[in-house]
Amino acid sequence: MAILLTGGAGYIGSHTYVELVQAGYDAVIVDNFYNSCPDVIERLKAITGKPVTYYDVDVCDRKALEKVFLNHTFDAVIHFAGYKAVGESVAKPLAYYRNNLDSTFALCDAMQAHGVSRFVFSSSATVYGLAETVPLTETMPTGCTNPYGWTKYMIEQVLRDIAVAHPDWAVALLRYFNPIGAHESGTIGEDPVGLPNNLMPFITQVASGKLAKLRVFGNDYDTPDGTGVRDYIHVVDLARGHVAACRYLLSHTGCEVFNLGTGLGVSVLELIHTFERVNNIPIPFDVVERRPGDIATCYADASKAKTVLDWEASLTLEDMCRDSWRWQSQNPKGYRA
Ligand code: NAD
Ligand code: UDP
Repeated sequence: MAILLTGGAGYIGSHTYVELVQAGYDAVIVDNFYNSCPDVIERLKAITGKPVTYYDVDVCDRKALEKVFLNHTFDAVIHFAGYKAVGESVAKPLAYYRNNLDSTFALCDAMQAHGVSRFVFSSSATVYGLAETVPLTETMPTGCTNPYGWTKYMIEQVLRDIAVAHPDWAVALLRYFNPIGAHESGTIGEDPVGLPNNLMPFITQVASGKLAKLRVFGNDYDTPDGTGVRDYIHVVDLARGHVAACRYLLSHTGCEVFNLGTGLGVSVLELIHTFERVNNIPIPFDVVERRPGDIATCYADASKAKTVLDWEASLTLEDMCRDSWRWQSQNPKGYRA
């Protein structure tokens, strides 16, 4: 079984590469290293003990992508490649729509030309928009609040339509909740460029002394301690969800949506205090204004993935905090050391 991972050098893609190889799959990475570092390849080789097949290719570059498809016979594709920063997508909508949609179109065309019909897509809980009811189930209404989210929403629809038009296609739309953590080796992990947008990389950079203080965005939400509640999932659990989705697509056709989360809501303060306890490092913080666009609470109903994919998250919040810190402390400058 050979699987193409677009964006396979990135945070989630690299962890999924490891889990696929360890499950016995051949995985091939296509990445233009726009938001990742070629050093990850050596580290993947060290973790798996096997050479890594990868292409430094922009998925939107149809000619280059064609060459990749000519070199391999893929059984499935996992499409991680895309831009993912919400704030940046508001400032540069065209770049987001172009890269995220064009890469998907180029990939689908190459797949059709080469008879590849199994597609796993990196969607996001952001497609639930401002939904106020939790836990979020896959059948709840969708709608977005920023261009990044709309790219996910649109790509989901494109893939649904292709699966209707081509009944041999098998598509899994995976809606990720909040991935954090890193591989237990501490050699691969999330490596944001510049100031982190997300909570955990911010916490680890405060822990390392790179940033002085964390800002907690609001403590007046309608949640148990007033701070925002999210469904944090260990990136290795998330990666294993992709292995489960690939296995599922081998014997199914059509298009299915799956939430990949733990089903547990964790507040900002709970995450900070768990991190402090597990790693024995204080995280100084100030409570500041709410961040515009944030919702109070977001967590998954993850039961469909358990029933249908036979997958569920097993790593704990403590594991996530310990592994995030191991990665950060062993790689204070990320891959670019
Ligand atoms: P990432 O930025 O670490 O990985 C994405 C990878 O895609 C990067 O290595 C980047 O260089 C590559 N890439 C981007 N455009 C490309 C192109 N045109 N051609 C080739 N490579 C390209 O992001 P991630 O956190 O690993 O996320 C992976 C996917 O999951 C993304 O589609 C993201 O939107 C989605 N997602 C992420 C999260 C999250 O919190 N990390 C949550 C929900 C969904
Ligand atoms: N958050 C925070 N300080 C930060 C970053 C995030 O208090 O520096 C909060 C944010 O308001 C939200 C939670 O942490 O309640 C998770 O934010 P993140 O950006 O990681 O994920 P998202 O909001 O996109 O789900």
